[in-house]
Formats: sequence, structure tokens, C-alpha cells
Amino acid sequence: MRVNEIFLHTLRKGLKPGHLMTDPADCWLYSYDNSRHHALPEAVVFARETREVQHIVQCCHDFEVPLVARGRGTGTPGGAVPVQGGVVLSLEKMDKTLEINFPDRYIKAEAGVLNQTIQNIAEKSGFFFVPDPGSSAYCTIGGNIGYNAGGPHAVKYGATREHVLGLTAVTGTGEIIHTGTYTTKGAVGYDLTRLLIGSEGTLAIITEAILKLTPLSDFKNTVQITYRDLASAMQAVIKIMSQPYLPSALEFLDESCLKLIQYSHSDAACMLLIDIDDERAKKNIIEASQQVGLIEIHFAENTAEMRRLWAARKALSPALRSLSSKKINEDVVVPVSRVPELLEGLKKLSEKYKIPIVNFGHIGNGNIHVNLLTDSADQCLDEIFNLVISLRGTLSGEHGIGIEKMPFIPRVIDPPTLALMKQIKKVFDPKSILNPGKIFPDEDKL
Ligand SMILES: Cc1cc2nc3c(=O)[nH]c(=O)nc-3n(C[C@H](O)[C@H](O)[C@H](O)COP(=O)(O)OP(=O)(O)OC[C@H]3O[C@@H](n4cnc5c(N)ncnc54)[C@H](O)[C@@H]3O)c2cc1C
Repeated sequence: MRVNEIFLHTLRKGLKPGHLMTDPADCWLYSYDNSRHHALPEAVVFARETREVQHIVQCCHDFEVPLVARGRGTGTPGGAVPVQGGVVLSLEKMDKTLEINFPDRYIKAEAGVLNQTIQNIAEKSGFFFVPDPGSSAYCTIGGNIGYNAGGPHAVKYGATREHVLGLTAVTGTGEIIHTGTYTTKGAVGYDLTRLLIGSEGTLAIITEAILKLTPLSDFKNTVQITYRDLASAMQAVIKIMSQPYLPSALEFLDESCLKLIQYSHSDAACMLLIDIDDERAKKNIIEASQQVGLIEIHFAENTAEMRRLWAARKALSPALRSLSSKKINEDVVVPVSRVPELLEGLKKLSEKYKIPIVNFGHIGNGNIHVNLLTDSADQCLDEIFNLVISLRGTLSGEHGIGIEKMPFIPRVIDPPTLALMKQIKKVFDPKSILNPGKIFPDEDKL
């Protein structure tokens, strides 16, 4: 059944006035995300608490209406786009921080709280929440959980999955569930917290999360290291990652990126931007960086310079639009030792298809943001994914599957595993109302 008057009447009964929009002009704003895919929902609703989310899910369940959770729509593969119409549920009004507990090292927050809000609260007391995407000022905790978001610090500390202790969520049948613990240890039952993280709104709507805090180090260095050739930079990365003291961020920028950030050495082919938060790591990392093609090792002189270097790195993704209005952004990941083969392969594919490809990203995780400056590259993308898989990598390191990478899922997940995932989806969401048309390419067979 689709959205009809009886459905809207039932839905409206459990919501605050003004929290249901059906005018297409109002709904338009919720029809796309950063992927630039677009599909108009028939209604947009706002919830303020878990019980309201439950009411919304129950209505959609009873009337079999598609329901798509949305944080702030900064995701790149189209996960928040309502491809089958129905209702978009915006969590943006669930923006309360519920509990701050430093002795137990967590913050409990509603799903619509911005990542940066959590960072600001944590920082004042000497902590941080590790997942810190470049979009932290705009994206929500619910969206971070939806995609298992990462960020520069994942190289040492891991992505969202490692930093959420527990969740409150509403399943596709409208049941409220509580997963995980308030403790940093727990050995009771299946780990549904980790299952829900990265599920892209297809299993349950997250309403609250218990976020793990990590202490900030007193020591912090930001180092910018440039190389004449890619091979030297790759050797440095492999050496850095082969020794025991990890950097707290290890980012890569290729030659096109250096032009975008207006780096002045004209013979520089690439740059590593490194954060070190352990004094013991500094000597090893700097030694490992010293390869034949080294041009310069520059330590940021003060906090202002550190911020400036990171601001330039974080601005890269939007800045690419100045090179080309057309852009296909992938975030493939391969084992670190295979990154040189990945970059070599990408260079060949760029030449073969005559498509400029700009690469940067979290190289310490082997996670490269591959930007094809074109709006159509099916054949080339096909070869890129085959290359990544041949190197034991996978389709996405942190951006997720959404609509864009859905057709390639069967290449990385074998049939029995995929079948099990579909059964799990059925248990959480028997009528397939939660974010239909995502993750599984043959959803009709669910
Ligand atoms: C400039 C820029 C830089 C970025 N840098 C990074 C980066 O460094 N690392 C990184 O990982 N990503 C990065 N991103 C991508 C994006 O910001 C993240 O994926 C972010 O986590 C999305 O949050 P959001 O609130 O915008 O979620 P949305 O895009 O609204 O939603 C994301 C997915 O989660 C689902 N979802 C949202 N809320 C909920 C909920 N409450 N319950 C269940 N499902 C939900 C949605 O249905 C969708 O599938 C960047 C994006 C931009 C524009």
C-alpha cells in the first residue's frame, strides 16, 4: 500500500503539529543527499523522541510504506535517498545530549546530535570521540552509525564500530530495542550493536547511542612530508605501518591535491599529512619517512598551523568541484601493503579511459578516496572494483554502499553470506519497509 489519506491521518495523530510535511515543495529538500541522487518522498516526518519514532515505524509497518532514516544527508553513496518514495524520517530534531559521564567515559546522545557537538563537549574535559569525518560539523551521530563512518584517526583508533557501546533503536516491526552496555566490557548475548552499525538504516532506526570517549594525548605533532615521486611516499607509508608505534593520522594527497591546496614546491608529486600523539612514535615515524625522493619534512609550529593544515585537507573533497563540476567519488580500501599496486592500477585506468582521477585519503588504513572527474565511467569503475578485489580490498572503507555500490555487492560477499544477511534483514524488518532499495541488489528475492 502507498501513502494515502488514512495513512497520513494515522501518522499525524502521534506527531507534534508541523512535524509532518506532504507538500512536494517542502519534501524536495529531503529528496537528495550528497550523492546528488534524487527521489521525491511522499511525506517527511520529524521525531523528537524514541516513542515518536516507534509510532512512525508502526504506521509504516501497518500500511507497508517505505521509511528512510535521514541524519543531515551528507552521505555520498545515496543511502538517505528515498528511491522507492514513501516517508523520510528526519532525526535532526532529536539533538539532545542525554548524559555526560567522564568516569565511565561515555556520552549518551540522541541520533540527531551533530558529531562536532560531541567533539566539543568531549574536548573540554580532555577526551575525544574518535570518528571525526571531514563533515563533522554537519553530520549526525545516527548517520555516522548508519555508515560506520571513519575519519583520519581510524588508522590508530578504529572507526565508529569501535566507539559505540550501546544503542536504542526501533526495528522494522516498531519494537524498541536496547543493545550493548554502559561498560567498556560486556559478554552477554549477540553483539547487535556492531550489527546495526553500518546497516544504513535497513535494519532499525537508531534513536540514541552510548558513545565511547577516548582520552586526548598531551603530545601532538602534525607533520607535512612531501616527495618527488609516488614510490618513495609508498615506501615511507609501508615502513611507518610496519613499525609498532602508529601515527594517530596518516593521510595521502596526490599531485592534483597539492595544486588544490596551493602547495608551493613545484616538483612535489605527493604529500603525507601525519599526526603523532605519542612521543615514542615520533622518532620511528620520521626515520621511516626518509626515502630517496623526500623533499621536505615540515612540522606545524603551533596549534593554529596544525588547524590550517587539517582544514586544507578537510576541504579537499568540496574543493575538487573547482577542477570539475562532474565527480564520481569512491572510497575503496585495500591492505596497506597493496596501496602501491592500487595507485599504479588507477594511473593506468585513468590513461586507458582518458578520465582524470584524483586520489587522496586515509592511506594508513589503505582507504583511498578515488575521485573520477567525470559523470559517467561505468566501464572504468567496473575495472577499478575488480582491481580492488584482486588486491584483497573491498568497495568502501567508510562511505557505505547506498545506491551507488549496490550492484557490486555480490562481487565482495559470497552467496551463502549474502543469503544470511538477507535472513537477518527479514528478522529485523519482515515487510522490508526500512530503506528499501539499498544494499541488496535483488531485494525482490528477500
Ligand atoms: C565534505 C565531506 C567530508 C566527508 N568526510 C568523511 C570522512 O572523513 N569519513 C567518513 O566516514 N565520511 C565522510 N563523509 C561522508 C558523510 O559525512 C558521513 O557518511 C556521515 O556519517 C553521514 O552523516 P549524515 O548525518 O549526513 O547521514 P545521512 O547521509 O543522512 O545518512 C547516512 C545513512 O545512514 C542512515 N541513517 C541516518 N540516520 C540514521 C538513524 N538515526 N538510524 C538509522 N539509520 C540512519 C541513512 O538512511 C543513510 O543510509 C564526508 C562527507 C562530506 C560532504
